[in-house]
Amino acid sequence: MQQDEERPVVLAFLAHPDDAEILCAGTLARLREQAGYRVVIATATSGDAGSKTLRPDEISRIRHQEAQAGAALLDGRYYCGGCQDLFVCYDKPTLQRFTEIVRRARPGIVITHSPEDYMIDHEMTSRLVRSACFGAPAGNVLTDADRPGEALSAIPHLYYADPLEGVDIFGRAIEAEIIVDISETMELKSRMLACHASQREWLRAQHGIDEYILTMKRWGEHRGRQIGKAFGEGFRQHRGHAYPQDDLLGKMLGAGRPTAEKATR
Ligand SMILES: [Zn+2]
Repeated sequence: MQQDEERPVVLAFLAHPDDAEILCAGTLARLREQAGYRVVIATATSGDAGSKTLRPDEISRIRHQEAQAGAALLDGRYYCGGCQDLFVCYDKPTLQRFTEIVRRARPGIVITHSPEDYMIDHEMTSRLVRSACFGAPAGNVLTDADRPGEALSAIPHLYYADPLEGVDIFGRAIEAEIIVDISETMELKSRMLACHASQREWLRAQHGIDEYILTMKRWGEHRGRQIGKAFGEGFRQHRGHAYPQDDLLGKMLGAGRPTAEKATR
C-alpha cells in the first residue's frame, strides 16, 4: 500500500455543496477504488442561499457538514473557497484562495464545471479553477495566505463535467468527449448525494417525490446509454495551451467515447 502522500490526487472543485455528488462522484469513487487516487472535494460557496427557512449562517453550517459527510464516504477532504451563493466573482482575492486550495490539494486531475452552464456561479467557478490550475505551479503567483502551500510541479489535467441537464444557456446540447462508466459506483454516488439532506428534503417537500436523487440518476442513465452501460458521467478535457493534452482520466478508467448513433437522446 502506498503512503497517503504518495498517492495521486483528484480534486473536484465545483461551485456549491452537492455539485460534486451530482456531476462527478461516481468517477471520483472509481479513481479511488481502481486507480488508488486520494479524493479532495472543494466548493466555491457553502450553499448559504439553499434554504427558505434558515438564515444564511445556519444553512451554511449545515451544508458545510453535509459536504464533509459526502466527501468522507470517499475518505476525502473537503475545502470551502469562502464565496457566497450568487456572488462567486472572478477577482484577485477569490483567485488567490482558489489557487491556495489547488496547491494544498496537489492534484494530478482536476474536475470543475463546464465553461457554459445554467448558473453564473458555475461558470465563474470554472474560470477561477482553470486559472488556479494555471497559476498553481508559478511560484511568483502569491496568495497572501498565512502559510502558503508549495507551488505545484506542473499544471494538472483539467476536465469539465457536464453542465446541468447537458445544455448551454441557449438549450443547445453539449456532448461529452468521454463518458466514464459509473454503473458500479452509482450506489455510492447516491449515498453521497443523500448526505445533502437539507437540499433533498427541500425538494421532496416541494415535489412530493425524491426528485433530488431521481434527477441525478436519470441523467446518469442518459450518459450511460451513450456508451452502452447502465450509468455514466460525461466530461470534456481542457486542451488550451500549456495544459496537459493526454487524456489521463480516460486512460485511468478506460472511459468510453459516445458514438454519434448512441448520442441521440
Ligand atoms: Zn451548483
